[in-house]
Parts: sequence; structure tokens; C-alpha cells
Amino acid sequence: MTNRKKALITGVTGQDGAYLSKLLLEKGYEVHGLLRRSASADVVDSRLKWIGVAGKIVLHDGNLTDLSGLIRVMNEVRPDEVYNLAAQSFVKSSWQQPLLTGTVTGLGTANMLEAVRLACPEARFYQASSSEMYGLIQEPVQSETTPFYPRSPYAAAKLYAHWMTVNYRESFGLHASSGILFNHESPLRGIEFVTRKITDAAARIKLGLQDKVALGNLDATRDWGHARDYVKAMWLMLQQDKPDDYVVATGRTVSVRDFCRLAFAHVGLSMEDHVTVDPRFLRPAEVDVLLGDASKAKNKLGWTAETSLEDLVSEMVEADLARLKKHEHL
Ligand code: NDP
Ligand code: GDP
Repeated sequence: MTNRKKALITGVTGQDGAYLSKLLLEKGYEVHGLLRRSASADVVDSRLKWIGVAGKIVLHDGNLTDLSGLIRVMNEVRPDEVYNLAAQSFVKSSWQQPLLTGTVTGLGTANMLEAVRLACPEARFYQASSSEMYGLIQEPVQSETTPFYPRSPYAAAKLYAHWMTVNYRESFGLHASSGILFNHESPLRGIEFVTRKITDAAARIKLGLQDKVALGNLDATRDWGHARDYVKAMWLMLQQDKPDDYVVATGRTVSVRDFCRLAFAHVGLSMEDHVTVDPRFLRPAEVDVLLGDASKAKNKLGWTAETSLEDLVSEMVEADLARLKKHEHL
């Protein structure tokens, strides 16, 4: 028997799952993760390996769409804290797979809330909500009181999951909190997201492996932070006496174009020589601007973003250069 606190993380193989696993292990937790079955079992834990936690967490077979399996995992683990990070998380894909996105990102959260309610109602629950829920922004700076206006099937699914989390808190007294996290990146960000696509391309172009990269809307702006900082906010939310919802953001918004400039400048290149625009990467409906106000997280959790955008970009480009030189893929 162990007295260590137990955490269960869904989405453990993703970017945030890797950073959160590391944080919780450092804090002495016994960390469990939900793993969906994949034919590519050899690469499924590549982020966990990269960050140095593979083998230190206990993995359980399960899928967000399979309630009985989730209840089984809850009964096996008996977690003190549940972090629901699993999702079909790529906005662009959500137009190509709207029903899958609704099933996993939306109803999957309802499955998780049901599994917690039925099997371990004392567990504290974290829901990975998203700034995408603000979509067509209703206020220039978005806080917990800003009305939502989702602009994609992903955002609509996240909004359902968000309100279900609030509802289970209010209906059943679950200690359920929702973090409305603005975009956060790292060397472990999926290659399809614009930041990683840019840093990987800048590194490839620097190494002579390619010459151009095609992007979509360069004028969109995002409030970009570092995943390593943002998982600390998740943990802090579950340490509070009362569950609540919090915006997590840096308070600075920068265009895709300026992100490119920074990444290419880091390797001594000019984006104007290498970036092209391809309408294939435009979206049916765009979220033009996101800018978060994280004052509540600062005042109540004592949380602030620690990493500057410049440092984030440098870290990502350096990691991509190192990976490419070693012929590694992620
Ligand atoms: P990733 O896309 O890196 O990770 C998603 C995770 O969900 C992966 O582990 C994936 O598993 C898992 N998953 C997908 N479908 C299922 C399923 N049906 N059953 C079980 N697991 C599944 O996301 P991030 O780490 O970047 O984000 C974490 C969460 O935070 C997500 O919910 C995302 O939508 C949300 N979010 C992210 C933001 C960001 O900027 N990163 C901003 C705001 C919210 P597999 O490895 O097998 O694919
Ligand atoms: P999102 O904010 O969750 O949709 O994160 P992304 O990184 O996928 O996209 C951020 C912004 O970059 C959006 O406004 C996109 O339209 C814009 N963008 C411009 N070019 C690209 C591209 O080539 N790929 C992606 N993923 N986004 C792009």
C-alpha cells in the first residue's frame, strides 16, 4: 500500500499529458494514464520518452468513448485527481470529422464525468477547456465572464464539455474545475499545429532539408504560452478547496506572421524568403484574435506565465534542430 496521491491523466500521450506527468511525478504522485489502443504501439509513447517519464507511469487501456472501460479504470486506479486532457484537439480536422470530434471531445467528457460520479465521486476533476470557445470574440480581452461564440465543431464540442463540467459541479457536488487555456506550445506540440509546423520548417530549411513552407492565414493572432507553465495551473486548480473555472493565458497576442519572423530569425533566416500562402490551410471559419486575461488565476492560484514567447520559440526551434540532426521524429 502506498500513501502517495494518485492521479489519472487521459490524453497522457499528448503534449500536455507528457508535461503534466513529469510535474506530478516530481511532486511525488503515483501517475496513471489512459492509453487508447494503437497499431503504432512503438511510437505511441514517444512524447513520454522524450520528456523522460516513460516507464514511470502506469498505463491503462481505455478510450473516452467507452464508458464501461472508463469505469473499470476508475475502479482499478481509485484516483484522487483526474485530469481529462484527451480530445480530438486539432481545430482544422474538426470540420473533416465533426461527429468524431463531438463524440470524443464533447461526449467523451460526459463519459468521464459519469465514470467519476459513479465510481469515484470524491476524486477531483480537471477539464481541459479551450480559448477556442470564445471564437468570434465578444470582448477584446477574454476572461471567465466573456460570452462564448464557438467557430468550429471542435469549439462547439469543447463548449458542451465545459458546461457539462460546470453542471456536474452544480448538480452532484463534484470537485470539477475547468481550465480555459489559451494556446500553449512546446517542443512536444503536434506537428500539424502552426507553431510547431513553423519551427520544424525553420529548422529543416536551416539544415538544407527543404526550402519553402506553405501556411494559411498569417494574420490570425494567438496568445501563446508554454505547456510546461500551463500544466502547473491545472494542478493548482485541483489543490483549491473549491472547484472553479479559470482562464490561463499570457496576456500578449502575436500574429502567425510575427511568430514566423521570430522562428526564422532564430536561425538567421528571413521568413519572406521561405514562407508561401496556400489556401488549403485556410479554415471555413476563422478565429482571428485571442487574448486572455488571467487575473483570476493570478489572484486565486498565484499562477503566472513564466516563459516569454521569444524563449518559447527559441526552445522549439532548437529542439527541432536537435531532432533533425539525430534523425528523430516526433
Ligand atoms: P494533444 O492532441 O497533444 O493530445 C490529445 C490526447 O488525447 C492524446 O493523448 C490522444 O491520444 C488522446 N486521445 C484522442 N482521442 C482519444 C480517445 N478517443 N480516447 C482516449 N484518448 C484519446 O493535445 P494537447 O496535449 O495539446 O492538449 C490537451 C488538451 O487540452 C486537449 O483536450 C486539447 O483540446 C486541450 N487544449 C489544448 C490547448 C493547446 O494549446 N495545446 C489549448 C486549450 C485546450 P493519441 O496519442 O493516441 O492520439
Ligand atoms: P488553433 O488555435 O487551436 O486552431 O491552433 P493552430 O496552431 O492549428 O492554428 C492557429 C492559427 O494559425 C489559426 O488561426 C490558423 O488559421 C493559423 N494558421 C495559419 N497557417 C496555418 C497552418 O499552416 N496550419 C495551422 N494549423 N494553422 C495555421
